[in-house]
Parts: sequence; structure tokens; C-alpha cells
Amino acid sequence: MNRAIFLDRDGVLNRAFVRGGKSYPPDRVVDFELLDGVAQACRDLKRAGFLLVVVTNQPDVATGKQSRENVEAMHKKLRGLVPLDDILACFHTDADNCLCRKPKPGMLNEAARRHGIDLTRSFMVGDRWKDIEAGQKAGCRCFFVDYQYKEPAPKKPFEPVAGLHEVATRLLADPGIGTTSQGCETSRQPASGPSEGPEATSHGCEI
Ligand SMILES: [Mg+2]
Ligand SMILES: [Zn+2]
Repeated sequence: MNRAIFLDRDGVLNRAFVRGGKSYPPDRVVDFELLDGVAQACRDLKRAGFLLVVVTNQPDVATGKQSRENVEAMHKKLRGLVPLDDILACFHTDADNCLCRKPKPGMLNEAARRHGIDLTRSFMVGDRWKDIEAGQKAGCRCFFVDYQYKEPAPKKPFEPVAGLHEVATRLLADPGIGTTSQGCETSRQPASGPSEGPEATSHGCEI
């Protein structure tokens, strides 16, 4: 079974825009910029054998504030900057009552099914309570990047970190990381590289 780092997008990989204490995604591809230390952290985690899977809520697509084409253009840019194994996006709002929108764990479960991921030996990194709750429901260990948004804090357990660079530093310093259990587990072939094309960015919950 594979181990994964599940990555929220805005505020974890790329800069989120904060207005009135709330976090907003970039509107345009040109405004989509990686945060400091993210590219190196991703390369280091990948080298340690983790799959890197983005799980992102993008409700502006449902409300018409953002186009799906534009979101997918941002994801194409993102794939060019960091070595991702998959990107799962929920384009719904709460009103859609879908299975993928965080805090539900649907995107993590779907990724686990696609890529043979052991969720209990995997990690979720997020900057909002919905990320942490989704990770907890999936059975992952959770890291929280706290920007002090004006919204409820996540419920424990989670580990506070300054950013993805600290997640990488901590996990790579852990002697148990990257080791496999003795012989009773056949290590799977990693997923056959990042899948390409728009269908790779959409998620099975699409109606
Ligand atoms: Mg976020
Ligand atoms: Zn959804």
C-alpha cells in the first residue's frame, strides 16, 4: 500500500488571498503562485516515497464566480511546478450535498481507491477546519497551517505547522517514515506517473 500526503490547495501550496479575515482562491492563473518552500518540500516528500495528492474545494465553479476551465488551467500550472500524483477537486457547494466536498472525506477515499493508499499511514495538510475534519474522518494524521482566519478552529487532534516545509522537515526526520514493514507487505508499483488531461482533474462525484 502507498502512503500519501493529501494537500489542500489554497494556503498550503499556493498563496491564498485574505480579505476581511477570510481566505479566497486566486481568480486568475497569473495570480496563482506557490508559497515559499513548497516546491522543495514536495520534491523531498516525493523522494521519500509519498504520493502527493491535492484535494481541493472550489465552490466558485458551482456559483459561476469562477470557470472550470480557469481552475483547470491553474492546476495545469500547478502540475508544472510540483510533482503531483493526482488532483481531486470538488466543484460543488454545500447545497449540492455531494460526497466530495470537505469536511467530507470523499476525495481522500476516492484517491485511496485509485492509488492503493493506506489512509491510516497517510497525512492531510490544510489551513481550514474543513481540511482537518476531512483528514480525520479518512483516518489520516493531520497538520494544520494556522493563518488565524475568522472562522472556527479545527477540532483536535492535529499538529500545528508553519507550512508545508515544516511538514516535510518533521516527517523526513522521523525514522519510521519511508521504511516498509517486513516482507508481509508487497510494495506496490507507484501509480504510473501523474495522469494528464482534464479528466484527471475531475472527480468521480461529478454528476
Ligand atoms: Mg485552504
Ligand atoms: Zn463535491
